[in-house]
Amino acid sequence: MPDAIMTCVICESTFVFGEAEQKRCARLGFEDPKRCPECRHKKRKQARDPSPKVRKGKSLFDAIDGESG
Ligand SMILES: [Zn+2]
Repeated sequence: MPDAIMTCVICESTFVFGEAEQKRCARLGFEDPKRCPECRHKKRKQARDPSPKVRKGKSLFDAIDGESG
């Protein structure tokens, strides 16, 4: 199984999907990588340190504030 040249779906740069990596993915049941190592690394970093987004539902303090007085 020769090394495969993959194209990153994010930055469209090419990267080598080596034979050892291909075997590892197949063994673990992973799909072929769609992102280059750099973009994968960025995504992992984002997942660990997510930026604050829209909160789900109302906050506890909103409910309490209406009751007071
Ligand atoms: Zn990339």
